[in-house]
Amino acid sequence: MVYTENYPVLDETEWKDYCQLPGIHSKETPSDWMKQIWDRLMDYKNRGRLAGSMKRYIIANKMKYLWEGDLGYAVGVNIAICYSCNKLVYSNIGCKYGICHFMDKHWSTNCTGNAYCDISFRDYIEFKNKLKSGLTNSFDEKQAIRRYELWMQNAIRRVKRAREIGRKIQACITIQRKVVEWIYHPDGMTVKQLSEHYQLLWAVREEMCQINNV
Ligand SMILES: [Zn+2]
Ligand SMILES: [Zn+2]
Repeated sequence: MVYTENYPVLDETEWKDYCQLPGIHSKETPSDWMKQIWDRLMDYKNRGRLAGSMKRYIIANKMKYLWEGDLGYAVGVNIAICYSCNKLVYSNIGCKYGICHFMDKHWSTNCTGNAYCDISFRDYIEFKNKLKSGLTNSFDEKQAIRRYELWMQNAIRRVKRAREIGRKIQACITIQRKVVEWIYHPDGMTVKQLSEHYQLLWAVREEMCQINNV
C-alpha cells in the first residue's frame, strides 16, 4: 500500500471560504469559536476539502494588531479543535515551525477518539519495513507511522489505566464484602471498631463513585 494525503484541488470560492474560516474574536470564548465554525468545518471535512494538518485538527487564530488602525494579521494560538474526539485542546507547549507538538501530546495521552490514526497495524508494519529497507522516504507515510505510534501510546496508557481501575474495583469489592461480613457478624467487635468499618465503607463507596466518573 502507498499512503498519501490527498490534497484537494479547491476552486476559487472554496479557497476564499477556506481562508476565511474565522479566528477567535476578542470577546469570544474558545467554545463560542468552536460553535461558530463547527458546521462549516465539518462540511469541509466531510467533502474532503481540508488539507494537511487541517484534516485532523484546526488551530485557532487570533488577530494581532501592532498599532491602532493596523489591519492586523492572524497568529495561531495554543487552542485547537481535534476532530477525532471533537473537543477543544488547550496547551502551553505551543507550535514551532508549524509543527503542533501539543496535538501530538493530546493524541498520545488524552484523546478519546482514534480517527487521527488512519492506518492499520499491517500498514504500520509494512511502512516501517519499507522505511527501514530504504524503499520509501515518503513524508506522508512517516507521519502516518508517527500517528500510529501516538495512538499506540494512548491505547497502552488506557489499557494500563483500565487494569489499574479494575484492580481497584476488585480491591473495593473485597473490602466491601469484608465490611458487609463485619456488619452482619459484629460479634466481638467494639462499637468503635464498627464505626471505623462504616467509615471505611463510606471511603470505599466514595472511591468507587470517583472511579465510575473517570
Ligand atoms: Zn501549529
Ligand atoms: Zn482528540
